[in-house]
Amino acid sequence: MHQYDYLIVGSGLYGAVMAHELNKRGKKCLVIDKRDHIAGNIYCEDVEGIHVHKYGAHIFHTSNKKIWEYMNQFAEFNHYINSPIAVYKDELYNLPFNMNTFSKMWGIRTPQEAKAMIAKQVAETGITEPKNLEEQALSLGGHDVYEKLIKGYTEKQWGRDCKELPAFIIKRLPFRFTYDNNYFNDRYQGIPIGGYTAIVEKMLEGIEVRTGVDFFEFRKENSEIAETIIFTGMIDEYFGYQLGALEYRSVRFETEVLDCDNYQGNAVVNYTDREVPYTRIIEHKHFEFGKQDKTVISREYSSEWKVGMEPYYPVNDEKNTKLYEQYKELAAKEENVIFGGRLGDYKYYDMDKVVEAALNRLEEM
Ligand code: UDP
Repeated sequence: MHQYDYLIVGSGLYGAVMAHELNKRGKKCLVIDKRDHIAGNIYCEDVEGIHVHKYGAHIFHTSNKKIWEYMNQFAEFNHYINSPIAVYKDELYNLPFNMNTFSKMWGIRTPQEAKAMIAKQVAETGITEPKNLEEQALSLGGHDVYEKLIKGYTEKQWGRDCKELPAFIIKRLPFRFTYDNNYFNDRYQGIPIGGYTAIVEKMLEGIEVRTGVDFFEFRKENSEIAETIIFTGMIDEYFGYQLGALEYRSVRFETEVLDCDNYQGNAVVNYTDREVPYTRIIEHKHFEFGKQDKTVISREYSSEWKVGMEPYYPVNDEKNTKLYEQYKELAAKEENVIFGGRLGDYKYYDMDKVVEAALNRLEEM
């Protein structure tokens, strides 16, 4: 006899949605997490009364009404709209790429002028079928936008040449000919009032949770504890890296409390040239329109993941995708184990897609 129906490894968003839904259906769940807190990478820490996104900024956005309503069961969302600023040397631009960006870059005013300028620059590249991120970016916006706002940032974030990266990464960013600085095209957007940790706490209400528990140690003594395992950690680690290690990007956060009430005037400021070593500075209070006397900022330094670091981004290039497909075959043969989430599926998911993937998986089950 198993003590639990489900052992859920990882209390991030995927694990928490799974646990919540299974518990609701009368299943007995145990959630374990190797960290000393719940909520995975959406965990927020209270510093000076500000919710600090400890493992990187998270902005909830979705076009899926069902997912939006699902999340609203657990929190009310504020009216935050993400509108990052890009700093390139001594120039400052609005993101995503829109009329504000183009007008600043070329001194133009109308969509017709912007389109003509971009069409001219795109024609100069001679690219017809973009095969990688560089070609994709050049064929969307031409030389100036690519050199000033994409190349340096992308190469810092991914530690790879833009020619070696898949085009889909840049397709995440809107390109538009209106004066609209909203980073996302999605219908619904906001930051949960009360923070993300409170959402996960609510999802896990009434469920047994043990933090500070490493699965690989735990299973040595508890191999029969649950009928089914839901594993949200790194899929290659689960299999002991037997086919080789998948690559991930990690981020080092340099977080500082500053004795001023407003450091940069915006939640997100990207540094798009190569010379500045960090990719962006997050000023956390602006996600919640904070009125505190102090402020907290985090500089993000991107690096290749190594054992002992936190993995944040799967590197979904050709080589890693092939290797992941092999792990996926192993996973399919692993009886009574379900893999999911950014690390379990090795996929650059946004939060809404994580929730959607979990709900779809539950339906299949
Ligand atoms: N990107 C860019 N310039 C920017 C911001 C983003 O070229 O100023 C590109 C870059 O390739 C990055 C991708 O867009 O990897 C996605 O960026 P986003 O900010 O959406 O990533 P996340 O918030 O998930 O780190």
